Amino acid sequence: MKDILKQEIDQRFADKLPADHIAVNSPRQVLEACYSFVDTKIPSNPKLLHVSSSFLDELKLEIDDEDEFLKVVSGAIPYRSAKSYAMCYGGHQFGNWAGQLGDGRAINIAELNIDSSNWKFQLKGSGPTPYSRGSDGLAVLRSSIREYLCSEAMHYLGIATTRALSLVTTGDQVPRDIMYTGDVKDEPGAIVCRVSPSFVRIGSFEIFTSRRDIENLKKLTDHVIQEHYPHLGEPSKETYLNFFQEVVNRTKTMIVHWQRVGFVHGVMNTDNMSILGLTIDYGPYGWLEDYDRSWTPNTTDAQHRRYRYGNQASIALWNLTQLANSLYPLIDEVEPLEKILDGFKTEYLDEYFQMMSSKIGLQKKSNVDAPLIDELKDLLENSSVDMTIFFRNLSQFDNPTTFIDVVRESSYLEVDKFDTFIDSWMSWLSDYSERLNAEDRSKEERAEAMNAVNPKYVLRNYMAQLAIEAAEKEDFSLIDELYQLLLRPYDDQPEMEKWFAKRPDWALDKVGCSMLSCSS
Ligand code: AMP
Ligand code: MG
Repeated sequence: MKDILKQEIDQRFADKLPADHIAVNSPRQVLEACYSFVDTKIPSNPKLLHVSSSFLDELKLEIDDEDEFLKVVSGAIPYRSAKSYAMCYGGHQFGNWAGQLGDGRAINIAELNIDSSNWKFQLKGSGPTPYSRGSDGLAVLRSSIREYLCSEAMHYLGIATTRALSLVTTGDQVPRDIMYTGDVKDEPGAIVCRVSPSFVRIGSFEIFTSRRDIENLKKLTDHVIQEHYPHLGEPSKETYLNFFQEVVNRTKTMIVHWQRVGFVHGVMNTDNMSILGLTIDYGPYGWLEDYDRSWTPNTTDAQHRRYRYGNQASIALWNLTQLANSLYPLIDEVEPLEKILDGFKTEYLDEYFQMMSSKIGLQKKSNVDAPLIDELKDLLENSSVDMTIFFRNLSQFDNPTTFIDVVRESSYLEVDKFDTFIDSWMSWLSDYSERLNAEDRSKEERAEAMNAVNPKYVLRNYMAQLAIEAAEKEDFSLIDELYQLLLRPYDDQPEMEKWFAKRPDWALDKVGCSMLSCSS
C-alpha cells in the first residue's frame, strides 16, 4: 500500500488548458480561461470526521500520517507542490441561461496519477474563488454529510458518480438561512474532498460558446476527448459527433439507474451535469419513499417541479440539447446532432423498460410486459407504496393472497384507504403470477437476479438527517454506521434490519427530510 500523500502530481487539466491571467481572488468574469489559480482558505480548527476507507482500498492507497492528511484535505496546506485552482463554467439554471457560474466553493487541490488513472482531488467548501459571486465559498456540515454519504452510496449501488474521500469540519462557523425565510443561523463549516477523473460539466462548454470563444471551446473539447474518450481518435467533425454520442449514452444510462433506485437529483442544471455521465453535485437530492413520479425534494423547485423524479429523462435530454448547441460551432451541422438527440428518446425508453423488467424479475420478453409495468407504477403511486421495500420484497413473491399483506405493510396509507385498492392489486398480482409462469428460471435464481437490481438499503432522507442531527451534537457514529451499511446495499444485513423500513411519520414534513433547499 502506498501513501496517498506521496502520489505523482500530474496537473493535466491545468497544464494543458488556458489559465486565468489575473491572480486576484475576487468575484469577476473570467474570460478565455478554463480555470483560475486560487489558494484554499486555512481552517481554524480542522477535524477529520470520516474517511472512505473502501475508496482508499480501491485506489490501493493508505494514509501514513493522519495529521498531514487532515491538513491537506481541510485546505490548511497544499498537496506538496500542486497549485490549486477553481474551474470556470457557465450553466442553465432551472431552464434559464445564468451566465458564468464556476467553482464558487470548490477548489481542485491536485491531479494525481494513481495506478494508471489520473484523478482530480477537489475540496468543496474551502473558501471563496473568483466564481463565488458574492457568496462565501463555504459548505456546512449537514450538506457535506449528505454529499459524502451519498456519493459513496451511489458508487456501491453501481451508479457512476464522483467519489468522496474524506469529510472534515473546519472549526469555523458558517451563517446560513436554511429555508430562505430570513432566519440566519450559524452552522458548523465542513469540507468534503471529492475525487473524480474529471469535474468538467456541460456548463464548461456552454460558457465558451456563449462568449463566442470557439478557440477555447475547441481546446477544451479536444482535451476532454484526448483524456477521457481517447478511443475516438484525433479531432474531427466525426470525432466530435462520436464524443457527443458517448456523452448522450452515458447520461442516458445514469438516468436509467437513478430511476431504478428512486434517486432524485433535485438540481439538474447544466452546470451539474458531468461530461463523463457521472452523478455530480449532491445538493437537495432525495430518494423516493412512496412511489411518486411528481416528487422532488427541492423546495426551491416546488412550484414547477422541473426536476421531479418522473421528469429526469426529459431534463437530461434538454441538458444534452444545450451541449449539442455548445458543440455546434465545431460541427457546423444540425442534423447529425439532432439525430443523436432523437436517438436518446427511443434508446432511453428501451433501456428503461429493460431495467423495469429486471426489477420485477422478467427475463424473457412478452407483449404483456409493458402494460404490466405501467399498471404497477400507477398502483404503487395511487396506493402510496414504498418503492424500495416493494421491489425488494417482490423477489419473495409466492402468490397474490400472501403477497397482498406484504404490499399493504409497505404502503403509507391507512389500512382502510389501502384496502380500496385491494381489487386492483389482486388483479395485478394474479397477472404477474401468470406472467412468471412463462419464465424458465427457478424462483431462487429469479430472486437472486432481482436482489441484484433492487437495493435493500438506500440513503433515505431521514437517515441522512439522523446522522446530521447526531453529528451536530458531536456524535459521528451514525455517519460510520450508514457508510458501512451502504457499502453493501444489495446484501441482506440482518443486524441492520432497522434501515429496511418505511419512513417514520416524524420525517414526513421535516426540513432536511422531505424538504430541502439549495442552501448548503
Ligand atoms: P449548485 O446549485 O450547488 O450547483 O451551485 C450553483 C453555483 O453556485 C455554482 O457555481 C456554485 O459554485 C455556486 N455556489 C453555491 N454555493 C456557494 C457558496 N456558498 N459560495 C460560493 N459559491 C457558491
Ligand atoms: Mg453545482
